[in-house]
Amino acid sequence: MLRFMNTLCFATLPGDGIGPEVVDVSLRVLKALADKRNFNFETSYHDVGGIGIDNHESALPESTLIACRQSDAILFGSVGGPKWENLAPDKQPERAALLPLRREFELFANLRPGTLYPELSGISPLRSDIVKRGIDVLCVRELTGGIYFGKPKTRKILANKETLAIDTMTYQTKEIERIIEVAVQAASLRSGRLCSVDKANVLETSILWRQVVSEHVARIDPSIELSHMYVDNAAMQLVRDPNQFDVIVTENMFGDILSDELAVICGSLGMLASASLGADRNSMGLPFGLYEPAGGTAPDIAGKDVANPCAQILSAALMLRYSFGMEEEAETIESAVKQTIRAGFRTIDVAQGGKSIGTQEMGQAIIDHLG
Ligand code: NAD
Repeated sequence: MLRFMNTLCFATLPGDGIGPEVVDVSLRVLKALADKRNFNFETSYHDVGGIGIDNHESALPESTLIACRQSDAILFGSVGGPKWENLAPDKQPERAALLPLRREFELFANLRPGTLYPELSGISPLRSDIVKRGIDVLCVRELTGGIYFGKPKTRKILANKETLAIDTMTYQTKEIERIIEVAVQAASLRSGRLCSVDKANVLETSILWRQVVSEHVARIDPSIELSHMYVDNAAMQLVRDPNQFDVIVTENMFGDILSDELAVICGSLGMLASASLGADRNSMGLPFGLYEPAGGTAPDIAGKDVANPCAQILSAALMLRYSFGMEEEAETIESAVKQTIRAGFRTIDVAQGGKSIGTQEMGQAIIDHLG
């Protein structure tokens, strides 16, 4: 890809289902912001997921991978759908595209903001007195270690004919330190409060986790207000009073569960963004990252111009923040989404039976609120 000075360079992988619709709107928002703030971006479109299988016989075509390697970040839609559901598990779009991308770029830090604006508090399954002020919690999950990857991972028949299955949870100091650095940076951009979640009363990996977190935070940023919580308590506290948390950091499996719990209490997948940051630095010296909405391809509403584009737009804001160091511009987008909701614009997933508008119209309303 051709690069110009001061030009942001990222690869756009719209994917399947609602992916292309919401990615298109997010790029319109970025273009409108770039025109207002005098920056440029260069992007190129590449097939991934089901469309990759259809056009290149691969969910992650080599040309897509090469374009990602030449970029500073990836703006990702979502992949999969009924058309490809009958393929072998290792050929399924999600597994054959997202997992290799995570491996290729060592995307070890998954950031999932759980945001519920007060105006939308009615869409949360939590009681109204708990969420009347909205929710604003960031979950930082370690993504490449722990029980999903530890060896041995096997199943065998024992002499007594019983079947034994084994998963192994492992963590090394350096894996813990690097996710803590991401969490500390994220916390310092917010209130400075960080809660580390583990199971240090039972698990050896958690005892190490707690020790490394305490020592490393004290070393890299003593101003961070650090607390520790057991995972079973954290799961309860999230539904009892989510706003007691600001930034949560935790290992892979605990983060998988807690970030989904956070998504549910925030009401709609259409509002939730995510960032997966890699071990490598991009050409700007910042983390390479993959930015995608928390939801999937929503085949039930694809092609109808009703999908909520906010999650994709907010993912683009995270890309500006983490891979391009553009905090002010990221906040401008986040604030425009907030103002648009405050002004009463709703897509159908958050309309609570009231008046709703389409994907494109919602995108335009957000552009109009860019300030
Ligand atoms: P889904 O997230 O696509 O949909 C679940 C529900 O949420 C649906 O009712 C859908 O309409 C709604 N929804 C999701 N995003 C929305 C949005 N932006 N606006 C309004 N409503 C929205 O989950 P699913 O139905 O379990 O999966 C559908 C396909 O997506 C599957 O093929 C699955 O494998 C794939 N998927 C991909 C990813 C990914 O690419 N990262 C993640 C999850 C699921």
